[in-house]
Amino acid sequence: MKTRPVIAATLSVLALTAVAACGKEAAPVADTGVALPTYTVKTDAKVEGSKTLEAAKKRGKLIVGAKADQPFLGFENVTTSTREGFDIEIAKMIAADLGFGPDKIEFKTIVSANRETAIMGGQIDYYVGTYTINDTRKQKVSFAGPYYVAGQDLLVLKDKAEYTGPESVKGKKVCSATGSTSVKKIEEYAPVMPVTQYDTYAQCVDKLLTGEIDAVTTDDAILKGFAAKNAGKLKVVGKTFSKEPYGIGLAKDDAAFQTAVAAALKAHEDNGDWKKAYDATLGLSGAAAPEIPALTN
Ligand code: GLU
Repeated sequence: MKTRPVIAATLSVLALTAVAACGKEAAPVADTGVALPTYTVKTDAKVEGSKTLEAAKKRGKLIVGAKADQPFLGFENVTTSTREGFDIEIAKMIAADLGFGPDKIEFKTIVSANRETAIMGGQIDYYVGTYTINDTRKQKVSFAGPYYVAGQDLLVLKDKAEYTGPESVKGKKVCSATGSTSVKKIEEYAPVMPVTQYDTYAQCVDKLLTGEIDAVTTDDAILKGFAAKNAGKLKVVGKTFSKEPYGIGLAKDDAAFQTAVAAALKAHEDNGDWKKAYDATLGLSGAAAPEIPALTN
């Protein structure tokens, strides 16, 4: 008598497992275990008069510039040699509308200081990597966005109560990435302090953990990722002092491509992909889901 319910239970477990396995196949899973959305690749993607897209079609793949060191945003998992994060998802959804599946994207790591050069030199078709839209950059490149608005903040050791905002790091050793808006902004608050600069924020975080610097400054979205990865050791101060609207970096001389990328972004915001991607990536760092900003570019 007792075996029957056990068998029934086993069977239903098997059935559930089968369903779960099917679901898993349909949706890739981030290393955090949350299902990422998949994006339908357009087979009839046409953009009249875009030399960027023409060149990409000819070569059979898109070349996308991204970050490799920013957890939950643009991160290269060296063990699996895959890219993950919110920026990577944004790059993939746009690629899908342009007719390129994830296997037809080559990601190239470009650090903050090299973005304009890479875009202007045609080394990449577009760039997605915590890239603030601003007028200085618009003299050299074009943008589609914003798709997210971050704010500059500070990352410090968890037990340091004296850091309360940008004024509190005056005379302290602060680190940030070369070529970022973050370096400029912190210098406005503490003009006499030389900012320690590296190519990446990950290098700054290493120095923070060893005590060689006192604080890392950049966008809260980036810092929250590092804090989550170093739980119990680091904290974000939580007092933002700038607005950083993130855009997709594009060549200035291809208006047709800019229009297509902006339209793709809007379509994926409207159909719920943006939110799903956010929840499966950046949302896991503890950053609350923001309103999707209106496109201005
Ligand atoms: N969003 C800022 C910028 O574009 C800081 C982050 C970064 O360097 O990517 O400069």
